[in-house]
Amino acid sequence: MNDELRKDFPILIRKIYDRYPLVYLDNAATTQKPRQVVEAMTDEYYNVNANVHRGVHFLSQQATDLQEAGRETVRRFLNARSVEEIIFTRGTTESINLVASSFGQAFMHEGDEVIVTEMEHHSNIVSWQLMHDRLGINLRVLPITDDGRLRMDLLEGLFSERTRLVSVTHVSNVLGTVNPVSDIVQIAHSHGVPVLVDGAQSTPHFPVDVQQLGCDFFAFSGHKIYGPTGIGVLYGRREWLDRMPPYMGGGEMIKTVSFEHTTYNDLPYKFEAGTPDYIAVTGLARALDYLSQIGMDQIQRYERDLTRYALDRLSQIEGIRIFGPQDEREAVISFLVGDIHHLDMGTLLDRLGIAVRTGHHCAEPLMRRLGIEGTVRASFSFYNTRDEVDALVEGIRRVQTMF
Ligand code: PMP
Repeated sequence: MNDELRKDFPILIRKIYDRYPLVYLDNAATTQKPRQVVEAMTDEYYNVNANVHRGVHFLSQQATDLQEAGRETVRRFLNARSVEEIIFTRGTTESINLVASSFGQAFMHEGDEVIVTEMEHHSNIVSWQLMHDRLGINLRVLPITDDGRLRMDLLEGLFSERTRLVSVTHVSNVLGTVNPVSDIVQIAHSHGVPVLVDGAQSTPHFPVDVQQLGCDFFAFSGHKIYGPTGIGVLYGRREWLDRMPPYMGGGEMIKTVSFEHTTYNDLPYKFEAGTPDYIAVTGLARALDYLSQIGMDQIQRYERDLTRYALDRLSQIEGIRIFGPQDEREAVISFLVGDIHHLDMGTLLDRLGIAVRTGHHCAEPLMRRLGIEGTVRASFSFYNTRDEVDALVEGIRRVQTMF
């Protein structure tokens, strides 16, 4: 599948040190960009650039049309009901903070509770802790099993009459676990509680349909899905967004302003204060079109097969400890080898031209649960190959011989 596609990613033929070519296995941190994305953005800078929404002139209208066409592309990609439910943010982190702040202000009071899980990224923990400091809300935490699945049997017991929201990651950025989000939504809704899904690690790997999931909010980042940095999305059900106050004040999000009283703009602009990164919107839309042309189903099939291959090959390495479930997992593999420190492993693999991530992966509570400080993490894209997995395995073996 990927020989032709790899040609779209110029960086993949870069030489790192004296190694050729680069083996890039840090896709969960950020993906590389196809030239189509970069070219769409360059084209807009060269030929269209003007601030959106405020101009009557030709370029401003064209830039606005591109931005709103991008919103429609995102709507289609998530199968949201309406473009009014698609808000552009800077990324997953900002999307979660927007909900924490705005939903918190509208619906939460001291002593109220938010349910999260033990495998959350810091952005889905600390955002709520800030609301603990501001409003006095508390976190309830759904534990995981030793092999990195949610303890779904304990979920019901976490609800109380103070539960206001469940906020859960779709796919763990450390374990690759795919969480049963539809089941979680069903349980939460039976308690009248809405659900936010952190889709940073799901959207790049398989088709997502927010109506099918039934979730109330869904967040993802452009840069993890082959788009540019600095752009992300918050999907929110209209019935919630309508009742939530703006997150930030400024241009774009208002209807009328006086020193005495300001009225706010309609959705989605109410949540988009200031000049948006409209060039990045174009890049993101181009990335989503690119993926849709390949087909998210096809991407999922290829990556699952590659991950299975990687799991099989890696598990043959003596002394390796692989974290996370054996099945129902996405293209992320965290591991430790013998007593080799994750940082040493990552640094030495890097000298062999293999890029992996090391550390706590912004999931310190999960590391604590696993009783470790950090892991080495290899994460895959559709442009990765079995040869690259073999290079990783050989690299690990070489590092082993040095210890
Ligand atoms: N949630 C998860 C599961 C992630 O993997 C990440 C990025 N590592 C984030 C949230 C934060 O994404 P961003 O830094 O793009 O806002």
